[in-house]
Amino acid sequence: MARLPAGSLDCRLDRSATRAPDAADRPAVEHRPGSGPGCDGGLARARAPAACQGAQNSSQPSLRGIASGPSGDRLSVTETFDYVVIGSGAAGSSAARALVDLAPEVAVVEEGPSVPTEQFSDRAFPSLARLYRDMGAQLTDGRAPILVLQGRCLGGSTVVNSAIMRRLPEEVWAEWRDVHGLGAALPFAGIDNASAAIESELHTASTPETVWGGNNRLMSLAAVRSGIAGSAIRRNVVGCRGSARCNVGCPVDAKQSMQVTYLPYAAERGARLFTDSRAERVELRGRRAVGVQTTAGFLAARRAVLVAASAVETPRLLWRSGVRSPHLGRHFQGHPGMAIVGLFDEEVRLGRGATQGFELDGLRSDTRVKVETLAAPPETFFGGMPGVGREWLSLMAGYARSAVWVLPLRSYAEGRVSTGRWGRSISFRLDPRDLPNLRRGLRQAAELMFLAGAREVVCPVHGLPRRLRADQLGLIESGTNDPSAYSLAMSHLFGTARMSSRPEAGVVGPDFCVRGTDNLYVVDSSVFPTNLGVNPQLSIMAMARLAVERLAA
Ligand SMILES: Cc1cc2nc3c(=O)[nH]c(=O)nc-3n(C[C@H](O)[C@H](O)[C@H](O)COP(=O)(O)OP(=O)(O)OC[C@H]3O[C@@H](n4cnc5c(N)ncnc54)[C@H](O)[C@@H]3O)c2cc1C
Ligand code: SF4
Repeated sequence: MARLPAGSLDCRLDRSATRAPDAADRPAVEHRPGSGPGCDGGLARARAPAACQGAQNSSQPSLRGIASGPSGDRLSVTETFDYVVIGSGAAGSSAARALVDLAPEVAVVEEGPSVPTEQFSDRAFPSLARLYRDMGAQLTDGRAPILVLQGRCLGGSTVVNSAIMRRLPEEVWAEWRDVHGLGAALPFAGIDNASAAIESELHTASTPETVWGGNNRLMSLAAVRSGIAGSAIRRNVVGCRGSARCNVGCPVDAKQSMQVTYLPYAAERGARLFTDSRAERVELRGRRAVGVQTTAGFLAARRAVLVAASAVETPRLLWRSGVRSPHLGRHFQGHPGMAIVGLFDEEVRLGRGATQGFELDGLRSDTRVKVETLAAPPETFFGGMPGVGREWLSLMAGYARSAVWVLPLRSYAEGRVSTGRWGRSISFRLDPRDLPNLRRGLRQAAELMFLAGAREVVCPVHGLPRRLRADQLGLIESGTNDPSAYSLAMSHLFGTARMSSRPEAGVVGPDFCVRGTDNLYVVDSSVFPTNLGVNPQLSIMAMARLAVERLAA
């Protein structure tokens, strides 16, 4: 691992925030690797056996059970690992999967629960309660709040995502090279090769027409009729049955999310998965991370601690651990987006088909907007529809003949995730260039809906007629500049512990190591210096894999 000259540090460690553990005071607990019988690592199959599934494995007691003692001293138990990974989502699981090939003693700490597939439900309330952070109600602050969706369970957001796999666009990497000096340190070929390997391991392929359903089919029709570039989405699934339930957990483990792939792979090779265990802080002794204090006990790390708690939680955890940098929690970026609904005379059957199976890239260069289908079960769809009373009921009655498309925007805005004493808020205001781009994208997507045969389009912007006819689409583009009029949500999050080759410009260096430390790494999308304009999970997995390659070198 690269060592930095002391004078190059731009992060300082706040010693008052850290409490160095004294391992000698604590009785060591024997490490019991938790490989379950019959596990094959989950990579060659859609569903791993229950014995592979981390905390569900009875040979892998959760820390909560081990650590609670009559004294109530949560530091009274220490387990020692080579590496401790915080967070089990796209980044943490990918890191763990790579780490177990290097060293057997790896721990993964996950704040959320392990939710068995049998407990996935198509009902919104239990799904949000079990699988999502803040029950899916996490909002940015201010008068124009934006919904910030994140998973909070074993497997993280991969359990609730739509399985879309996109590689890092080369033009985005060029920004990283030119603006953030990461070209030589982070060659595009390295990220692309890692992405290719992951695509193969996670069985990534174009969504076959057999599971398109009506929603995806209509977008493909619009692409053909308009000549706008579009394609079936490449997804990491095996045997998808088109149940349109990706966002509440795949009921048949067709989706190759982390809890059925990389986590079982790691567990079979001895990794321990600790669920319902929140990392409170990383313990630093001088420049060295020596372990992780969790809500249920202390995990000592011989070699390194890797933080992968997401672009919202990672900066908070680093702050609690004593890391200080003017960039920590800042530069928060995302893809705020919204949905439009097409009302058709024909049956669309929104609840059938791959959740997100078709996409249009053709508007990105002009509007920074990507257009994707989004199928959803009735309950989720109903909750997102505008209006009240009769008007709302009549939209509900049209569920079977509705198509839903979403438009994530590559926003120019940079916000801030508050850390430490400033509470838990997320500040994010749209940039003045964002709404004109979004409106142009909305108008063009609405035109495409009509091209596909829609009778009317619902564009949930306050002030617009609830249902728009084809001759009213100009109203979208001349719409309000008040951001609170738009129903926005985002689930692609970046930048809060960004990487830079210049010590004064980032929290981590190109080796993914937090500046000022020797072995504390950030491996999630907090390190991405910009947003991407495309779905990020594959790039996040690839970057986490590169991080492990580097720390092992
Ligand atoms: C509904 C939805 C749909 C999406 N669809 C797609 C898609 O189709 N394609 C795509 O590319 N991307 C998609 N995304 C985004 C993608 O899933 C995320 O960008 C990616 O999973 C982020 O990876 P991560 O490891 O940084 O965070 P996460 O996957 O969110 O994992 C972070 C984990 O860390 C845990 N954690 C946080 N703090 C602590 C702590 N202190 N101690 C212990 N554990 C902690 C969390 O509970 C969580 O499980 C979607 C996201 C959502 C929410
Ligand atoms: S559409 Fe249904 S079957 Fe297919 S991956 Fe998503 S949840 Fe699983």
